[in-house]
Amino acid sequence: MKNADLFRHEGDYPSFPAEAAVERLRGAIRFETTSYVDTGRIRYDQFDALHAFLRESYPAVAAAAKWEEIGHSLLIAIPGTRKDLRPALFMAHQDVVPVVPGTEGNWKHGPFSGDLAEGYVWGRGAMDIKQMLVAILESAEYLLAQGRTFRRAVYLAFGEDEETLSHGARAIVRTLRERGVELEYVLDEGAGDVTDAADWGAPGALVCPIGLYEKGYADMRLRVRSRGGHSSNPFRGTSLGTLSRAIAAIVENPPKAFLSESARRSLLLLAPYITEEPMKTWVGDLSAHEEEILAWFLRHESLYHLVQTTVAPTMISGGAPAGNVMPQDMEAVINFRLCPQDTPESLLAHCRGLVGEGVELEYVQSVAASRPSDADAPGYSALRETLERYFDRLVFIPAQNRGATDARNYEEICRCVMRFGPFLEEEEVSAEGVHGTNERISVRAFLQGVRVIVRLMETTCL
Ligand SMILES: [Zn+2]
Repeated sequence: MKNADLFRHEGDYPSFPAEAAVERLRGAIRFETTSYVDTGRIRYDQFDALHAFLRESYPAVAAAAKWEEIGHSLLIAIPGTRKDLRPALFMAHQDVVPVVPGTEGNWKHGPFSGDLAEGYVWGRGAMDIKQMLVAILESAEYLLAQGRTFRRAVYLAFGEDEETLSHGARAIVRTLRERGVELEYVLDEGAGDVTDAADWGAPGALVCPIGLYEKGYADMRLRVRSRGGHSSNPFRGTSLGTLSRAIAAIVENPPKAFLSESARRSLLLLAPYITEEPMKTWVGDLSAHEEEILAWFLRHESLYHLVQTTVAPTMISGGAPAGNVMPQDMEAVINFRLCPQDTPESLLAHCRGLVGEGVELEYVQSVAASRPSDADAPGYSALRETLERYFDRLVFIPAQNRGATDARNYEEICRCVMRFGPFLEEEEVSAEGVHGTNERISVRAFLQGVRVIVRLMETTCL
């Protein structure tokens, strides 16, 4: 089945200027706003030109809102008439990932062509994430041009370096915090893959996650020191043996799994569709069956990472140069993705308790999981209701985001930070195109995403 078969209410907003919106998306893609960690390579003139293009393209927003450049990031503030309502914030990033040198010729349409062909708009950023940037501006422009009044103030925030350093998003958050702004909700890119809910005991039902937090990330180094020596006398064992036992102990004893609030809510949302035993019985009385459900999650590849910090040994070095030589100092790295119940500190203490004497542990890098957003917040309900209007059959569940995004910076000034790009492209198209070759978005998926954002803005901010 195709994702586009799930689209509903495509006739909403008949006066929306769809063709012109597609033209403006094509225009935005033509600016080469490529992100590089080496900031000397960034073409800031292209960001400046994009800003001028946006201002010209959205005259109603330009007239009503305050446009601020913070570095090369953009913060656009549309005032609201009700000062007692917290503002909403819609975000996207202007930057795109580089086209891999040497692959330019593999693109059916140039990566910065913005070509419209075969029902798609082609180019770097079409799916990540200029379509969202343009959709947000289109929505605000459409509502303002009709003379509609915003009761709730709305910020549009477009960072400049999400793909690399996230300095732009941090600077925007700092600016807002200094001004004492607290936000009602934030909508950013993320999540949105449609999967069959068979592993949940609901075969045939389709789940679609809305990201409410991001897992943490840690690389832990294990080091065992040894002078080595002749392998005919391994009386106290070798550094390799000690290191292997330490790795095995950590892999076999991950931190305790925990049925998170979002997993629990997802089960309740899916309950009407769960037909398979024993899950059907279990969800009927969740609290009595938590242990069984947890064990079930841990047995399924699509579910275990929702309830457990994952443990993946990835690097090892220092082995001996020959079979008859004992190795000297050895090192390994284990990569963890932390659930919110585990912190880098608690994880390190847990691992220290598992490895024997003589194994040194330290982080190469570590970032805690982000703070899960409030799934009872009105912004979250509004997004879910809107999505249910435009996408048939999907069960939207609160979930974790796979990668790190700019959104996490906003958690300090907002209790409802949602990661969901409402552009449901077919899986093979997004798998190929996002950060790959032939990035493109179908006009249909783009316009359906625009309808979601128009309606969310209309129902929550007007
Ligand atoms: Zn992105």
